[in-house]
Amino acid sequence: MTDGARPATAPGPAPREAATHCPYCALQCGMTLREEDGRVAVLPRQFPTNRGGLCQKGWTAAELLDHPERLTTPLLRDPASGELRPASWDAALSRVVEGIRAVQSGPGRDAVAVFGGGGLTNEKAYALGKFARVALRTRHIDYNGRFCMSSAAAAGMRAFGVDRGLPFPLSDLGRADTLLLVGANPAETMPPLVRWLTEQRQRGGKLIVVDPRVTATARQADLHLQPLPGTDLAVASALLHIALTEGLVDKDYVAARTTGFEDVRRAVAGWWPARAEALSGVPVADLEATARALGTAERAVILTARGAEQHAKGVDTVTGYVNLALALGLPGRPGSGYGCLTGQGNGQGGREHGQKADQLPGYRRIDDPAARAHVAGVWGVPAEDLPGPGVPAYRLLDSLGTPDGPKALLVFGSNPVVSAPRAARIEGRLRDLDLLVVADFLLSETAALADVVLPTAQWAEEDGTMTNLEGRVLRRRALREPPPGVRTDLAILADLTARLLRRDPAQSPGVKRGPFLSPDPAVVFEELRRASAGGTADYAGITWERIDAHDGAYWPCPDPDGPDTPRLFAEHFPTPDGRARFHAVEHRPAAEEVCAAYPLHFTTGRVLAQYQSGTQTRRVPALRRAAPEAFVELHPDLADRLGVADGEPVRVVSRRGEMVAPARLSPAIRPDTVFAPFHWGGAARANSVTNDAVDPVSGMPEFKICAVRVEKVGRS
Ligand code: SF4
Repeated sequence: MTDGARPATAPGPAPREAATHCPYCALQCGMTLREEDGRVAVLPRQFPTNRGGLCQKGWTAAELLDHPERLTTPLLRDPASGELRPASWDAALSRVVEGIRAVQSGPGRDAVAVFGGGGLTNEKAYALGKFARVALRTRHIDYNGRFCMSSAAAAGMRAFGVDRGLPFPLSDLGRADTLLLVGANPAETMPPLVRWLTEQRQRGGKLIVVDPRVTATARQADLHLQPLPGTDLAVASALLHIALTEGLVDKDYVAARTTGFEDVRRAVAGWWPARAEALSGVPVADLEATARALGTAERAVILTARGAEQHAKGVDTVTGYVNLALALGLPGRPGSGYGCLTGQGNGQGGREHGQKADQLPGYRRIDDPAARAHVAGVWGVPAEDLPGPGVPAYRLLDSLGTPDGPKALLVFGSNPVVSAPRAARIEGRLRDLDLLVVADFLLSETAALADVVLPTAQWAEEDGTMTNLEGRVLRRRALREPPPGVRTDLAILADLTARLLRRDPAQSPGVKRGPFLSPDPAVVFEELRRASAGGTADYAGITWERIDAHDGAYWPCPDPDGPDTPRLFAEHFPTPDGRARFHAVEHRPAAEEVCAAYPLHFTTGRVLAQYQSGTQTRRVPALRRAAPEAFVELHPDLADRLGVADGEPVRVVSRRGEMVAPARLSPAIRPDTVFAPFHWGGAARANSVTNDAVDPVSGMPEFKICAVRVEKVGRS
């Protein structure tokens, strides 16, 4: 180097970019990841749904890629010390296979269960179902989406013959003259979606929100109905009663496109507005204004979300709003309809391809002989070898380790110790297992109980597809390889499958020859396309190239050269007679009502800066700063009665357990109701309190209402 000369610097590696989607919720906002000098940045990306916007969770998602708590080696529980210790992949997978063989050698194949997640890619959800049904040959598989969207799914299937969260593009929300949100708080759960609501109101549209709390979304509404928790169905029945009384029902639509209306007419006849007001607390004038706004609008949309759905009568509650939408002639008209705002990242695709207890790929029923024959043909196994239906998630979790229940559980993409209702009981069930295996990239509360922990790749480290809340199939693109020592879920399933099949005398030679399950997501997607062909959720015509060329593709899409389906129901419904089906439903009380010992309603939900069980978002510094801890929201009048000050720790006690967190005083909640977010574990675990009563049709637990008392901490 000569005097004054600058040192020559070798050019670093060129920055890498990947056009992908956020790892969190069902809006699946488009984003660009850019890696430079080992650091990954999140950049905005124009995508039709989020139009460049992201919420705080999306902007900070890359911070977990190199997080110091990231798992990078398998862990095995040491029998002597009881501690989790690092182990090789061979040792860990051998332990899993031995454990599975040991429990299956006794009571049989169903001694092993699999629990999946609504955040897994379509390829993983598909592979998990195939792994359970063929490699394990157990009927016991279900997933945490059962806790999220299952009631809307069941209501959609019985009314429309199909379950697609939004049967129309998200942009339709901006065109609606009246938009009714029931139990939905997108301003906190999906902030970029609020742009569509803003556009709707700027066009002169009316936004009406039904929610027991004055949420961030309710504050933006033209009208907020604030019913007592658990009375949404009575509100729906009253709205339809008013629509009938005031001649707002679309008789031509009902006659031409539906069946069963007379039963519904009779069922809502008894729901005159004053009766609904007495039960729900929603004033008659507000009920009438809502019915008129919906019934006189040229375009109207009714959306439900978890607030209406997470009840032991969730399917009937959603059905009440579907009935209203059908009576007003909304489904199938542009800018109009009924939809469900799906929650988890792949809440839609995750419930279509086989990780549900009763389901085979393509939204086929596992008890349908034709469906079994088709999928068995794709898999190359005899149809009679496929197990029958299992049981819904809560029943499955609650049977673990019991004399008649599974003795081993493999968990992928879920944290039931925090997210299951009556969580202390489920935690006990997990502890009773002979073998608990958890695949995750962080040591979640569930992984901390495991006998074997398998470190997995994150979303930016693997390719795959997700299906967003509109039924639009999207590409998730890898930015970089997983760190050394980490494997993808698909690679883990492929390796386990090969090990299990190799020495399974009951498997046919064709299956054992393999490779039966590929670790390559592109190969798995091609197989998924064939397995879903002809099913309700038909992906046969969707290729990764097609997704790349068109910002995704909407199912059903049976033909690679034919159109996809952004909008359903324009001409007919996918039912045997092409008509939508009304179902008469009747309000019933919550599974647990308030009483002298437990005089308050308890309801749970989310906050803006946290996601689901919080395993990921609680470890992101910016999100932790924004929402550092759980809280119990109380009305100031109630706090006054209890002698509780803002910030003071309180105990919420139900018949099943208790949680402790600081009180947050707010007039946004009814004085007879308390609220807590469910993102935290330990003493602040809201699900220690929640009720495990489930909907008889969907298996959805009643997260949204139970009876509690609130005490100052220190008082017994
Ligand atoms: S709204 Fe959902 S998908 Fe979009 S950035 Fe936030 S968490 Fe991610």
